[in-house]
Amino acid sequence: MSSNLYLVIMLGVIFLITAFSVPSLFRKKCPNCGSKNWIEAKVCKKCGVPFQE
Ligand SMILES: [Zn+2]
Repeated sequence: MSSNLYLVIMLGVIFLITAFSVPSLFRKKCPNCGSKNWIEAKVCKKCGVPFQE
């Protein structure tokens, strides 16, 4: 029981470290203005340029 909780916490920590150290996995950089957008974004939130797939 306590080992399961430990595993869940460790997976959460690993996920957070990955998310912070490899932001390009989760973010898209706008080719026009360079601002970071979420990976699901279809257009840049800052300048409105559409992203190519
Ligand atoms: Zn932009």
